[in-house]
Amino acid sequence: MPLLGVAAVALFVLEAKQQLRLRTRPKAERQLINAAVAAPALPALRLLLLPGMHAAARWAEKHNFGILPRLNIPGLARYMLGFLALDYTNYLWHVLLHRSDLLWRFHNVHHLDLDLDLSSAWRFHIGENIASLPYRGGAVALLGIPAPLVLFYEVIFEGCTAFHHSNMRLPYTLERRLCQMVVTPRMHGIHHSIVAREANSNFSVIFSCWDRLHRTLRLNVPQAEVIIGVPAYRSLAEQTPKHLFLLPFQKQRPWQLPDGTVPEREELPNRARLLP
Ligand SMILES: [Zn+2]
Repeated sequence: MPLLGVAAVALFVLEAKQQLRLRTRPKAERQLINAAVAAPALPALRLLLLPGMHAAARWAEKHNFGILPRLNIPGLARYMLGFLALDYTNYLWHVLLHRSDLLWRFHNVHHLDLDLDLSSAWRFHIGENIASLPYRGGAVALLGIPAPLVLFYEVIFEGCTAFHHSNMRLPYTLERRLCQMVVTPRMHGIHHSIVAREANSNFSVIFSCWDRLHRTLRLNVPQAEVIIGVPAYRSLAEQTPKHLFLLPFQKQRPWQLPDGTVPEREELPNRARLLP
């Protein structure tokens, strides 16, 4: 918690000083909404999901369950492989959140934010956090992840989530190199675009290699042209905490603007080249 707190404060200052995308809504207005969405979801993460994953790891250890202990590889290499494998399962979970009609109802609450910044990193519906428990706990047990690695991975996972949701403008050449390895703010900004093709790209959480591996990487979108959100949910009146809490339980709208048009953009060549 102290580590993540320091990282969050640093990102908060940096994104205010060096803004990447222009805001469409006042910062305080969204921070209040996002805090209200996070208020039940964050305790669910801390008190249910994290202890659940930790318990799954200890159960696997006790019963000699899981893949990693069977591979017979030494300590540090086993931790590194476990870290990578966990990150891959989270890539797959994120794809599932977008592909499953049921899970999308909850993940939609995260995506229909009208801007993207540090506060979006915790704006998840409590239902999404609860739904991820069997998946993420199951993955930990199946892989046989050591319990300390679960906690270590989670700290890095949350730190990286805060980083790539932030609206911090990194020097372009630095970010172009950085996104060869990890998910960056420009890369994740494209994932929050109202263009369907772009929202269905860049699912990775820490390492960007999973998107390269599955050809879901898309970096060739000029950042200034990205419109953040979900086209059918752009009304400010629906951005209240109450609306957002009830949204998963209501009929979902198709991926189109209120006037019926579907947001499109001409695709530029070379998907693997990050644009400024
Ligand atoms: Zn997403």
